[in-house]
Amino acid sequence: MILILVGPPGAGKGTQAQRLMDKYGYVQLSTGDMLRAEIKAGTELGQKADAIIKAGNLVSDDIMVGMIANRLEQPDAAQGVILDGFPRTVPQAAALDGMLSSKGKSIAAVIELKVDAEVLVARILKRAAETGNARADDNEETLRKRLGVYEQQTAPILPYYADKGLLHSLDGMAEMDAVSAEIEAVLAKL
Ligand code: AMP
Repeated sequence: MILILVGPPGAGKGTQAQRLMDKYGYVQLSTGDMLRAEIKAGTELGQKADAIIKAGNLVSDDIMVGMIANRLEQPDAAQGVILDGFPRTVPQAAALDGMLSSKGKSIAAVIELKVDAEVLVARILKRAAETGNARADDNEETLRKRLGVYEQQTAPILPYYADKGLLHSLDGMAEMDAVSAEIEAVLAKL
């Protein structure tokens, strides 16, 4: 089972991926978490990614495709994966297709969490204030930049997947439990 969660920053992808992991035992692959781990470890890649993430831009397709290709090779990924934050561009989506088809695998569904940008900004700033430990990329200016990058670079993957009949768009503004229920309803029909 290969499931892709798509949505702008703060749409609840991480929360929903975590729930699916707890319930079905799928592995959550968050490229944002992987990059943050590289930054924490102080690797060369981490140092490069740090500045890019802080500016609200995307890390290059080559780096991200290489990262996810390695991760999909790990034994735990064989059970099923939820991709959270990848692909984020059409070239990444095309590279993923190539990777999977060479292994005889395919994407089961792409779930889009649709949200209103202004509500998102409020939601994320609230998260930052509540944790008191704001992610460096959660300040308002960067957030608006990331939303713009989402619209320009990531949103084009939605028609890409719609054309393949894989796209399921859900209301990401609903209560978290309602969103989870909708996702489960999509999975039940696969
Ligand atoms: P996230 O935690 O998914 O919001 O990711 C945090 C940041 O990491 C993003 O704003 C990007 O700068 C970078 N990033 C994560 N995933 C990708 C990806 N698939 N392609 C390019 N950049 C990414």
